[in-house]
Amino acid sequence: MKLSKVHVHTLREVPGEAEVPSHIWLLRAGMMRKTVSGVYSFMLLGWRTVRKIEEIIRQEMDAAGGQEVSTSPIQPAELWHESGRWAVYGPELWRLKDRHGREFALGPTAEEVITDIVRSEIDSWRQLPINIYQIQLKYRDEARPRYGLMRSREFIMKDAYSFDRDEAGFKESYAKMRQAYTNIFTRCGLKFRPVAADNGAIGGSGSEEFMAMSEVGESDIVFCEACDMAATTELAAGVDAAPEAEEMLAPEEVATPGTKSIEAVAEYLGLPQEKTLKALLFDIYHDVPDENGIYHHKEYAAVFIRGDRELNMVKLMNALGVAEHLIEFADEEKMSLATGCVGGFTGPVGLHDCKILADSEVPGLKNLTAGACKPDAHVKNINYGRDWTADIVTDLKLVHAGDPCPVCGKPLSAARGIEVGQIFSLGTKYSASLGARYRDENQEEHLIEMGCYGIGVTRTMAAVVEQNHDEKGIIWPVSVAPYHVIITQMKPDDAAQSALAEEIYTALWKAGVETVWDERDERPGVKFNDADIFGIPVRITVGKKAGDGIVEYKLRRGGDMQELTAAGAIEAAVALVNAER
Ligand code: ATP
Ligand code: MG
Repeated sequence: MKLSKVHVHTLREVPGEAEVPSHIWLLRAGMMRKTVSGVYSFMLLGWRTVRKIEEIIRQEMDAAGGQEVSTSPIQPAELWHESGRWAVYGPELWRLKDRHGREFALGPTAEEVITDIVRSEIDSWRQLPINIYQIQLKYRDEARPRYGLMRSREFIMKDAYSFDRDEAGFKESYAKMRQAYTNIFTRCGLKFRPVAADNGAIGGSGSEEFMAMSEVGESDIVFCEACDMAATTELAAGVDAAPEAEEMLAPEEVATPGTKSIEAVAEYLGLPQEKTLKALLFDIYHDVPDENGIYHHKEYAAVFIRGDRELNMVKLMNALGVAEHLIEFADEEKMSLATGCVGGFTGPVGLHDCKILADSEVPGLKNLTAGACKPDAHVKNINYGRDWTADIVTDLKLVHAGDPCPVCGKPLSAARGIEVGQIFSLGTKYSASLGARYRDENQEEHLIEMGCYGIGVTRTMAAVVEQNHDEKGIIWPVSVAPYHVIITQMKPDDAAQSALAEEIYTALWKAGVETVWDERDERPGVKFNDADIFGIPVRITVGKKAGDGIVEYKLRRGGDMQELTAAGAIEAAVALVNAER
């Protein structure tokens, strides 16, 4: 590709909306352009990288026995009604109507569509197992699209679905996918780790997320250096404090003027925060909206955890069985009229008409200080069982670095990651709701065991940039680089330089090395800057010594610039690309 013949437009300035390196550099390198919030167009260089990532995925999925298909992103609402997800998926589901008023969704994922095909075409054990996958645009009307490709509203996903006779078969399918994912992310040049994860809106039981390690990642993970425990903080089990053996003391109301936070109460009363009980108040909505799409109030919930702990919202949503868009912090004034809570002074005694949840360690704690459900007052020596009980007692704690590992008890470490893929056990959730069955050797019917497996293709691209850039631009790994080599010709009108550049260019393409020839009429500084921004792994500079057949050879990843003969540079580039492609 001759650079003067194509439209590749780099930006000198950091675009205003871009905050993280991948977003900044993919825009500055002219790899993509924003169409509208959370929707991007890919330009020549960006699209080449997308296709390389897709090709790696395709090769590994095919090798693992996957069959590639292509379903439409336009999905009829009827299928979503059947699975029960039309109502519960919430505003992230991008809904639309045709001219007859018939409802559709732009697919955020494709369990329904694929299971629909399988239920009508598979009826015998002889047809199982199968693994069906596709690579296509997916749509999620995210509340906060941000960070460019990391959280967009339209993105490319590889989604795969496995169908097995039984649990044992499913386990094999899952293990194959887990290995394929490991191969894929390794080949993309990512530093990553699989961690145990929550199932989220997909449902089912048990899943793992593949995390590309990155400070700008939106996922927090904890892991144990002593054993192999690793999980998202959303999922990680908290370890309860040991039950206390103290004698229960009599409750005592105390004035605590103006102490609306746990810190303030603990300080005012001279107590450690562990001896206080924290209240968090929530409003929960009905999962089916009215005809105008409005969700209505269903009930209030009050959550009690030890004062120094933080609440894990995902554990709370799982405990209540509500989706993210159906729960929010309560308006304290409104809730106070209905339940007797008092903002900043809410305790479990005196609350009414509201669901009460307690973190699992709370029943074992003695003589806690809690809000009195009166302004400016708390009650000391509140004890679970004697003074109050909860409707639900379960682990609701957020786990932090330094907390004990739930498996071995050693202190946990924490890190941040970008979720580039997730693999799920679905059990029979979709085969039951949609009726996907097979007959065994004895003509007996069984539900099919399912798994599903997603990779964010465009998010993976962003993750590669997050892990591979410097202050000058992107540093693509060879395997996903848009081109392998860039030939920078210093003077486009110099005959010797043109001849040598052309010779190298032709030889490299012949050897299967994808090469850009920058023969634009630009200053050398501009060309070097652009080559750095593009992040092409090898730069061969054809300049003053072209007449002697000498060029400069430099790796984008660093290392010294070398003077080589043209033949030497070609050999080095071919060897590098073949070793790392
Ligand atoms: P998240 O928790 O980040 O919202 P998710 O768990 O809802 O993602 P999945 O349903 O597991 O996502 O989708 C499979 C993969 O698709 C994810 O692992 C991720 O790589 C990618 N993905 C999901 N949502 C987005 C998005 N808004 N933009 C880009 N990629 C996404
Ligand atoms: Mg996920």
